Amino acid sequence: MAQELIISISGMRGIIGANLFPETAATYGAAFGTFLKEQTADKKRRVVAIGRDSRPSGSMLLGAVVSGLASVGVDAIDLGICTTPGVGIMLRHLHCAGGVVITASHNPIEYNGIKLLLDNGIAPPKALAEKIRKIYFEKQLKRVNSADCGQVWANDKSCEIHIDKVLPLVNPAQIAAKKFKVVLDSINGAGGPVGLLLLKKLGCNVTAVNIEPTGIFAHGAEPTEENLKSLCENVRKAVADIGFAQDPDADRLAIVDNTGRYIGEEFTLALAAQYMFAKNPGASAAANLSTSRMIDDIAAAAGGKVIRTPVGEAHVAQAMIQHQCVIGGEGNGGVIDLRVGPIRDSLVAMAMVLQLMAETGKTVTQLADSLGGYTMHKTKYKADAQRAKAIIEKAKQIFPDAKLNTSDGCRFDFADGWLHIRTSNTEPIMRVILETKDAAIAQKYLKTMESICKETLG
Ligand code: MG
Repeated sequence: MAQELIISISGMRGIIGANLFPETAATYGAAFGTFLKEQTADKKRRVVAIGRDSRPSGSMLLGAVVSGLASVGVDAIDLGICTTPGVGIMLRHLHCAGGVVITASHNPIEYNGIKLLLDNGIAPPKALAEKIRKIYFEKQLKRVNSADCGQVWANDKSCEIHIDKVLPLVNPAQIAAKKFKVVLDSINGAGGPVGLLLLKKLGCNVTAVNIEPTGIFAHGAEPTEENLKSLCENVRKAVADIGFAQDPDADRLAIVDNTGRYIGEEFTLALAAQYMFAKNPGASAAANLSTSRMIDDIAAAAGGKVIRTPVGEAHVAQAMIQHQCVIGGEGNGGVIDLRVGPIRDSLVAMAMVLQLMAETGKTVTQLADSLGGYTMHKTKYKADAQRAKAIIEKAKQIFPDAKLNTSDGCRFDFADGWLHIRTSNTEPIMRVILETKDAAIAQKYLKTMESICKETLG
């Protein structure tokens, strides 16, 4: 049976032909347009920037969302195939009232989705997302007559504007002098052309793999170790300095080191943070609660600090703005620099990691090994919100000395590691994430959690 269409804070995601149709997308576009018009009383025309990842269904959904927007008198700027961070950059560059990204990120090709952004480039906060949902479900659409219908025009400048924003973050001449050999795997997603252009501007000698944005993914779309075996192989064959893997909408980046070893997505933010803290001692960073402690070590060594947020890009971005963070992101390979935009950006991550290599003269292997030593364990249990709460309460009694953060489930920080327990927003699942340096200590915490869960869940 087809899964249900998911309508969450960050937008809509479903399976094409099963539960996500052009009609659905058009209604959702009309709901978003109605919402934007109701945000302020002025009669100014609203313009929305819209782009899509490379999935074959993207054109259909983009056209449908644009129709929906036009039906309520909202104009659209069609960016064509564009990365998620690229849409965020363009909507602010063009002073739009909002943005739409047609993407299902790392989900398989059957899926697609519609992600909404406000004029600041951030997904609507919960209260506003609820408003959009209500307009959509209750069909409170403010349709207009013929004369007021929205218009659509194209803009193909997203690649160059995106790169113009990223280059000033680093010293391109210093990177170019190193003539780094780079393998880029863009999984035939939206990030290939722009990623390749950036690396060329940084003087890299690039082997580009799966670069054409066809949407026919050459391997599993999530940039995980098992999906990136071919990239590891290509790095070894090319005797490259580094391998980069983007996900289909190019907001996440995974790294393969110069020996052809997948070092894990957690290192992407850690390496970017190492570069930024070296430049900004005493500064602040933001990361979600499930992100590795590596960033805390890096910040502490530079006299800085890390603000921990609930999981989700918008939470990290809001914390970065509030605390004027120089860097932020999530452990899934998502790096945010507010000078480019409040969205995770694989181009920002690539530029920073190359700059770190150029400045330190170290290989990725050396850089990663100097930070590493941590191992992360992820498990999940079938537990609804109420049972998850009971499990967290028991864990609090068992770990009375832990430092707690309860902004998203509960994170327990110990001297020798940390544990994050949180529930999923979309399914009755409780996730447990644990990180330690010592395998025996990890087993101790995992066993304790297992017995608490067994006791509560039966
Ligand atoms: Mg993504």
